[in-house]
Amino acid sequence: MDETAILLIYTGGTIGMISDEKSGALVPFNFDNINNHIPELTRFKYKIGFHSFDPILDSSNIHIETWIELGQIIKSNYDNYDGFVIMHGSDTMAYTASALSFILENLNKPVVFTGSQLPLGVLRTDGRENLLTAIEIAAANDEDTPMVPEVSIYFENHLMRGNRTTKYNAENFNAFVSGNLPLLAEVGVYIKYNKNIILKPNFKKLKVHDNFDPNVAILKLYPGIKKQLIDSLFKTEGLRGVIMESFGSGNAPSEKWFIDILKNASKSGIIILNVTQCMTGAVEHGKYETSIKLETAGVVSGGDITTESALAKMMYLLGSGHTNTKIVNLLQKSLRGEISC
Ligand code: ASP
Repeated sequence: MDETAILLIYTGGTIGMISDEKSGALVPFNFDNINNHIPELTRFKYKIGFHSFDPILDSSNIHIETWIELGQIIKSNYDNYDGFVIMHGSDTMAYTASALSFILENLNKPVVFTGSQLPLGVLRTDGRENLLTAIEIAAANDEDTPMVPEVSIYFENHLMRGNRTTKYNAENFNAFVSGNLPLLAEVGVYIKYNKNIILKPNFKKLKVHDNFDPNVAILKLYPGIKKQLIDSLFKTEGLRGVIMESFGSGNAPSEKWFIDILKNASKSGIIILNVTQCMTGAVEHGKYETSIKLETAGVVSGGDITTESALAKMMYLLGSGHTNTKIVNLLQKSLRGEISC
């Protein structure tokens, strides 16, 4: 390939909105006319290809099928493009970016997610800079090797590993946080890449997974949580995995009824992964007495993984056909840089 080629994939979200000429209401723009909305795109020296979802989706309507579809789009265009930019609503972007990191095994090219808090059709939009810089990052290379050959999120000057990211602000342009991993790049006048952190390419053949098991639940603990509620969650038909969001460094109630429910569930084959409700820091079983009992009940420590990433990883591993013993083992290992080991 001579000319750098980037594929822009548009799934929907705020970024793609403009004001309707008649009603003034925000409506999605026709992606075929994207160059009219962002004329700067024509100034790149790269070849830019476009792929739009139809219908386009608010990210609250993005499901496992959409993650799989994104994987297939990248698979069928992988040899023709040097990098991929995915325009996606910010609300569930951290989930999709996490899922895609597991779907794309041996990824050796950049996949950069971006979006915006204000639509492109609004004068003060953050979408223009986000999109243009995301393209620049997807195209960047260092001695013919892509600079960021992994799934990332670019938002308001920060490039973050996708599966380390959480949306934490519904208003600020700076909407995402990567609480347990430094930025992959910081953008100002220069794009400063943090090369020590960015994953290295392994030059193996891309393998695209397409089987995620949806039989997973997230259980957020809170003071006063009722036995009946936890009981009925674990009795859900077909349930295979639970991401348990506990307190601080992985602490949970130590009452017998609670531990018994967890013990029986894990004995019956349900995998329980303990993650922290905090934005930063990790689960450390055994640090406090209140987490020692979890270990004996068969609960697995999720370390410093985010809830979004834990959910995607659990669905991915349960869909992979591995035994529970292997899944428990892999949950504690870094597969795509999602957890510090
Ligand atoms: N509701 C929108 C979405 O996630 C918000 C956004 O794009 O930022 O699709």
